[in-house]
Amino acid sequence: MLDEFQIREDIVECGRRLYQKGFVAANDGNISVKIGNDEILATPTGRSKGFLYSDELVKLNHKGDVLEGNSKPSTEILMHLAIYEERPDVRSVVHAHPIYATGFATANIPLADCVLAEIVTTLGSIPIAPYATPSTPELADSIRKIIRHADACLLANHGAVTCGRNVFDAYYKMERVEHFAHIIYVAKMLGGERILSPEEVQKLYQIRETYGTQSHANPGCLACTEDCVGGDCVLYEKKIKTHDSGNTADETRISALIKDIIRTLN
Ligand SMILES: [Zn+2]
Repeated sequence: MLDEFQIREDIVECGRRLYQKGFVAANDGNISVKIGNDEILATPTGRSKGFLYSDELVKLNHKGDVLEGNSKPSTEILMHLAIYEERPDVRSVVHAHPIYATGFATANIPLADCVLAEIVTTLGSIPIAPYATPSTPELADSIRKIIRHADACLLANHGAVTCGRNVFDAYYKMERVEHFAHIIYVAKMLGGERILSPEEVQKLYQIRETYGTQSHANPGCLACTEDCVGGDCVLYEKKIKTHDSGNTADETRISALIKDIIRTLN
């Protein structure tokens, strides 16, 4: 049986960490935890996540109706509800605007290349959802397809969202996303990251299987071939198109590199 008191304390603690680490500014960001079949605890709207009290949290059902609490839930609650609908295995969702991850999201550069072993073995890769106006049903819909295969996702021109089996799991994924984005930023400053080969990625996927603690979600990456995660890959259609047009994975990478150079020159 879930300990609601402890879960409330954990949400407050993760909110404090989000704020202290600079992953959110002012009243931004939101956290929710599914505590029953049709009961979700969510952070209230208009409050800094750094200074929350556990009795301020709002309890609601899967339709967003408030069951308990004096505040309104976060305006991004529709995105949280969409994730719970798409992913019955998910018990918590965290949304924030960490500087580096949001920088990549704003530049419309997904963190979808396999370059760091820890990311390949945990998140797989980090795709980017198309831009949609925050707090609208369009934003919720924009992530539905991607979140089926990913535990972390960038939101174009907005921020990032992560999900997990409890609030700390979802929060740590947000830390991981931001750490990864920061590393890739530094690597780009140093001349560019080396992308792992499909063979190297396959070996990491095998290690990932033995960890056993990861969710099944894996969005695939630009480096892997059609036999990595196949149709589960969020980039699968793009890869198939590239494949059909006769481009090799190397050609795809070269064209991405050229685009990066042009972007840098501009
Ligand atoms: Zn936001």
